[in-house]
This record gives sequence, structure tokens and C-alpha cells, in this order.
Amino acid sequence: MSAPEEKIYDLIVVGAGMIGSAAAHHASQIPNTTVCLVGPPEPKVRKGQDIFGCWFDEGRLCYQINRNKIWCNLGAKSLARFRDLEKLTGVKFYTESGYAYVTLDKSTLENLMEVNQKCGFEAQDITNSWKNIFPFLHLPDNASVVWQSVNGGHIIPRKLVTAHQTAAQMCDAQILHKIVSTVLPSKCDTHK
Ligand SMILES: Cc1cc2nc3c(=O)[nH]c(=O)nc-3n(C[C@H](O)[C@H](O)[C@H](O)COP(=O)(O)OP(=O)(O)OC[C@H]3O[C@@H](n4cnc5c(N)ncnc54)[C@H](O)[C@@H]3O)c2cc1C
Repeated sequence: MSAPEEKIYDLIVVGAGMIGSAAAHHASQIPNTTVCLVGPPEPKVRKGQDIFGCWFDEGRLCYQINRNKIWCNLGAKSLARFRDLEKLTGVKFYTESGYAYVTLDKSTLENLMEVNQKCGFEAQDITNSWKNIFPFLHLPDNASVVWQSVNGGHIIPRKLVTAHQTAAQMCDAQILHKIVSTVLPSKCDTHK
């Protein structure tokens, strides 16, 4: 039996899901850095799979507006890159359909609108008008509703993964469709 092939990378990302694929994409843009992304693809049959991945479906909400400013920033920065990533890879994954946040708690609404204003987002308090705008919604009468018509919507997670992996490969990242079973300290002098 021949010895397994040995290869050294500057960075190995384990898990080729949404975060791992994005990490490999961005790391692969660092000059003179070799990157390898390791993880199994979406299973053809899910039953009996040992490893769980939460990107094997068609819908994830994405939005800017949040009570926490850090999440606002992360959301805004991610959304700002979606169209460029689609253009670069030819993989469509984002639909800008808007985003509605519903709460029964008035202080949550106030807090959300305050952050919205501070961040310069365009969300509106539609508590008094949502019944006209979305007549098909069945919400409690005391619901408060915040509506962001732009910079929010939904993505297809499996396509986002494809887009990030495509972009990573454009920058020479390697993708190995394998399961990592062991992580050992490096014996290589240059990569401790
Ligand atoms: C039902 C549901 C609804 C959600 N809705 C939203 C939403 O609307 N908006 C939102 O922003 N977020 C949502 N999330 C959360 C979002 O999907 C996760 O935050 C995101 O997928 C996390 O990405 P991840 O890469 O960390 O994990 P995953 O996407 O799960 O990827 C992990 C990857 O690691 C791989 N892996 C595991 N072990 C190994 C191993 N030993 N070797 C190699 N590979 C391995 C798996 O195969 C998998 O591909 C939702 C999650 C779920 C489950």
C-alpha cells in the first residue's frame, strides 16, 4: 500500500458549510497564503448521516436591522458583498425581498428603531399600517412591526456555499471533500 499523500497548507479550514466556505474564500485572497477547505458535500441521502450541516436547504433570512450594533454591522457588511459575489461567480443566491421584524414588546421596538436610526438604515415602524401593507399576515393586534424593504431578504444557503467555494477556487484554494477525523500537532518546522 502506498503512503498517503502529504501536503502542507498555511491554513486548513475544517467544515465546508456557510462559515467555513466564506472563511476559505476570504483567506484565499491573502497574498502568498495557501488554503485548503475540508468537508463533505451535501449528502444525497440524509438519513444515516453522522455529520450534521445546517445549510442543506433553500432559505435563510438575511437582514441589517438588529438590536445589537455588532450584528447590524455584520449583517450590513455581508449584504453589501452579496451582489459582487454573485457577479464574480455567476451563482445567484440572494433575493432582496425585504425583512419584517415582529415583536409584542414595545421596548424592543423602541430599541430596534433607535439602533436603526444610529446606523442610518431605512427600516420603518409600520405598526399602524402593516394590516394594509401585508393584509395576508395574521398577527396579534398588539404586534409591533418593523419593515426594511431594502438590504434584506433571503438567501439560498447551498448556493451561497457554492459561490464562496467557487470564489475560493478562483484564488487557488483547494477543496477536499473529506471528513476530518483527527487533528495532530504539526511536525513541520515552518508551520507549528
Ligand atoms: C433550521 C435553521 C434555520 C436557520 N435560519 C437562519 C436564518 O434565517 N438566518 C441566519 O442568518 N441563520 C439561520 N440559521 C443559522 C445558520 O444556518 C448557521 O448559523 C450557519 O449555517 C452556520 O454555519 P457553519 O458553517 O458554522 O455551520 P454549517 O453550515 O452547519 O456547516 C458546518 C459544516 O461542517 C462540516 N463538518 C462537520 N464536522 C466535520 C468534520 N469532522 N470534517 C469535515 N467537515 C465537517 C459539516 O458537514 C458542515 O458542512 C438557521 C439554522 C437552521 C438549522
